[in-house]
Amino acid sequence: MKVYALGGYEEVGKNMTAIEVDKKVLILDMGIRLDRIMISEDTNLQDTSTKELNRIGAIPDIAPLKRKKVVGVVVSHGHLDHIGAIARLARRFKCPILGKPYPLKLVASILKEERKPMPNPLFEVQDSSVTIGPFDIRILPVTHSIPQAGCVVVSTSEGDVFFTGDYKLDNHQRLQKPLKFSELKKLDIKILITDSTNVQNEGITPSEKVARTLVSDYMGMIEDSDKGIVTSTFSSQVERILTIIDEAERIGRKPVLVGKSLCKYYGLALEMGIIDKPVQMIRKRDALESTLREINKKKDEYVVLATGSQGEQDAILSRITDRKLPYTFGKDDTVIFSASVVPNPLNMAARYRLETKLKMQDVRVVKNLHVSGHASREEHRKMIRTLSPDYVLPCHGAPDMLMSMAELCNEEGYAIGSQALVMRNGQSISI
Ligand SMILES: [Zn+2]
Ligand SMILES: [Zn+2]
Repeated sequence: MKVYALGGYEEVGKNMTAIEVDKKVLILDMGIRLDRIMISEDTNLQDTSTKELNRIGAIPDIAPLKRKKVVGVVVSHGHLDHIGAIARLARRFKCPILGKPYPLKLVASILKEERKPMPNPLFEVQDSSVTIGPFDIRILPVTHSIPQAGCVVVSTSEGDVFFTGDYKLDNHQRLQKPLKFSELKKLDIKILITDSTNVQNEGITPSEKVARTLVSDYMGMIEDSDKGIVTSTFSSQVERILTIIDEAERIGRKPVLVGKSLCKYYGLALEMGIIDKPVQMIRKRDALESTLREINKKKDEYVVLATGSQGEQDAILSRITDRKLPYTFGKDDTVIFSASVVPNPLNMAARYRLETKLKMQDVRVVKNLHVSGHASREEHRKMIRTLSPDYVLPCHGAPDMLMSMAELCNEEGYAIGSQALVMRNGQSISI
């Protein structure tokens, strides 16, 4: 078996790994790295050529797969760092894209947005396994921060591969049941390819239940206020959005979703029956202005959920703050960020700018009512011990994160270099 590290081995972003058995290749995820697009000032995704995206390091370099027989692309979940390059790269391979329904619907919507028809068929994987060439593929539901995330198990004649995708071990999510550890114990894993993003955090990542409590307690604090409340989280964090909606209703206000991406992720989850709580959603420009004008007249009747938790300049929250939309912040209005700042200098600067502008308008800024979607060190230890793989390949991280994962493996008895494998983008290894 040969394993290719193609993206996500030097950064958090543009994730892509491939495995080769019997001269057939299966690709696991095909993501994009958005900060590389953000730094190039005039670059916008739709108008940038695939060649240019490759040059600036925004998508994985697929050169190592040249002349290889690729039989399928499996997506672990619907975040852009896992599916965002499909519209650009998948057409090079005449093969299906496989995944759970929600991420596949997101793939289809990106293709529409980028106006890219795609020859590859989309194939939904349900509970049972799917066989393509020498690969028998299963997707096990796992908790993360977007609906229908999964760990991918690939059985082959040369042993089994366990690809975690992004995960945390959370026993208290409303939209996703915990990973079944009894099932995992039965597997005979040759290689574990694992998310390393938060391995440097000691202990375990707090449950989504904690985020629910944080949001609920704060909403309780301002329950009797007659001022405006605007909240923002990651648009794909559907469970969190649901929490904010519930809390808004609990304090007697009407929740309204404002912004294209927020409505896209929530609307899709509604349409697919993942959630069953319809709310008012504003995505079109003309409706946006008139609705915000209405809300502005009776701020105390609404909780606005807006896009822009990272301070993105074209998102709703920044546009309100910059007085480009007819909702005006006033003294003692509250803006709640139920999201962390993605730790890169661009996001940090954008968020700093936004928060400062809000404070200059006497708005109360509430931050970090949030928990991460990525496992911490002890969750990873549990995964390694349960699966007891022959090899571990850390992925989804900058080199220091991958090294920290290798160190954890070393604590668990794996030799760094020969059993805990630290790879860079573009490298491959035969095991
Ligand atoms: Zn990711
Ligand atoms: Zn993710």
